[in-house]
Amino acid sequence: MDLEELARRVRAFADERDWGKFHSPRNLAMAVSVEAGELLELFLWAEDGAAQPASPERAARVADEAADVLICLLNLCDRADVDLGDAVVRKLARAAEKYPPALVRGRALKYDEYPTWDGAAHGATDDSEP
Ligand SMILES: [Mg+2]
Repeated sequence: MDLEELARRVRAFADERDWGKFHSPRNLAMAVSVEAGELLELFLWAEDGAAQPASPERAARVADEAADVLICLLNLCDRADVDLGDAVVRKLARAAEKYPPALVRGRALKYDEYPTWDGAAHGATDDSEP
């Protein structure tokens, strides 16, 4: 299912319940963060090298919390007139410029921490992560 169809279903769900009146961009941005926190909570206190999440019960809830994050994000993008698919494509293109595979493959530094990275050559204008 593509993003447009998902967004249509999310919008219809809210419309059927008259929840749009609660869906200000501010509220939806906060909801994205709250749901992301619920997703993070499933991984909280998992030990390095152990199963993550730490229990099968928590692992079973990952899909639900990931879905909650996307539902809130789709609602936010709908209200904020953001074409999420287009935004992702544009962001990936900028990230590809900042993180050329030949320079960063297998390494997890921030783009400006690579010794040979030239921000001007890569069109970097901010310090946001990809
Ligand atoms: Mg949730």
